[in-house]
Amino acid sequence: MESLKQEIENFLRKREEQNLLRTLHPMGHRSRGIVRTNNKEYIDLSSNDYLGLSQHPFLKEAAALAVIKYGLGSGASRLLSGDFEIHHQLEKEVAEFKNTESALVFNSGYQANVGILSALYGKNDAIFSDRLIHASIVDGILLSGARLFRFHHNDLNHLEHLLKKVRSRFEKALIVTETVFSMDGDRPPLKDMVELKEKYCCELYVDEAHATGVFGEHGSGVVEEEGLSNRVDFIMGTFGKALGGFGAYVACSERAMRYLINTARSFIYSTSLPPAIIAVNRASLQLIKKEPDRRKKLLTAADSFRTILQNKGLTVRGSSQIVPFIVGDTEKTVKLARMLQERGFWVVPIRPPTVPPGEARLRFSLTYDHNEKTLGALADAVSEYRI
Ligand SMILES: *Cc1c(COP(=O)(O)O)cnc(C)c1O
Repeated sequence: MESLKQEIENFLRKREEQNLLRTLHPMGHRSRGIVRTNNKEYIDLSSNDYLGLSQHPFLKEAAALAVIKYGLGSGASRLLSGDFEIHHQLEKEVAEFKNTESALVFNSGYQANVGILSALYGKNDAIFSDRLIHASIVDGILLSGARLFRFHHNDLNHLEHLLKKVRSRFEKALIVTETVFSMDGDRPPLKDMVELKEKYCCELYVDEAHATGVFGEHGSGVVEEEGLSNRVDFIMGTFGKALGGFGAYVACSERAMRYLINTARSFIYSTSLPPAIIAVNRASLQLIKKEPDRRKKLLTAADSFRTILQNKGLTVRGSSQIVPFIVGDTEKTVKLARMLQERGFWVVPIRPPTVPPGEARLRFSLTYDHNEKTLGALADAVSEYRI
């Protein structure tokens, strides 16, 4: 016990000294892109509620009606008696939305990535992942026991080099990427990746957590936008970000879906999502199709915000609603975030190990609720600090 206490103390002290200590900031509530904390209101630039749907009356009403009809908790896992018809309705709608044969709902994106990857691959297999892949994918790969090969961010020459070198040594092989990278806001060359996966006999798994609801003609994501639905084996995405609900899905073949029901441990051994949350996710899919203007407005605002920052000589990345401003130095990033908070912008510094060392940044996460005036004021505040 003494040594654990010591270890905890050392860890906390070290993290604090290096400006790397993570802390929580309880919010009162969020509405129209404004959060309340420290008895003050802030413009929220840190949420993934990209379309502002978490507060939409249509979704609230769907939840309220479902609570009255079904009650609260689902009471059991899907394989016991926690499998409601409404779960299947949602899965059918997701498959239509993603233009695939089938879909399976998971309790969160984290659980989906961990459960699916570890169910499908094992120690005789290879997984090729982008270096900047989300932690939940990394954990799924670790749990699978497959050999991991990381390629440079969005660098298909490097990926092909690795495939050429080692693909033949393994039984199955998977390529995994995000369609919009969470900390960089950019997209992979998906079409070329599909060609590579076909050439080298691999499967392709994409995480559309930040793309679902935002990209594509019907808002289904980047895979839809690029017309690749029938050439990607596993399309995973979440309901908790742009869709304003909670949980996750994988869209795939009917046979793969059946296999996962039997093998994905995070699916089997966890109480299913409450029916009211499922009802919200269904309502959200309807709304996304009906209101394309939300995503159009969001992406236009993001483009113009990125251009404003670039014109001020700042280093920004991405081509989506996520606009990362790369500061580099951790201490500077923390200071800048604090200054912006003092001015009423809720921005949190993103530091290693979430991003590579030397690439500390502010991640401006734009939403439907931010208007041009707000974003202009934010850009001014950011550039002022630099001078
Ligand atoms: C948020 C996120 C997840 C996890 O999804 P949750 O539903 O929040 O657990 C997975 N992958 C990526 C890329 C994410 O950004």
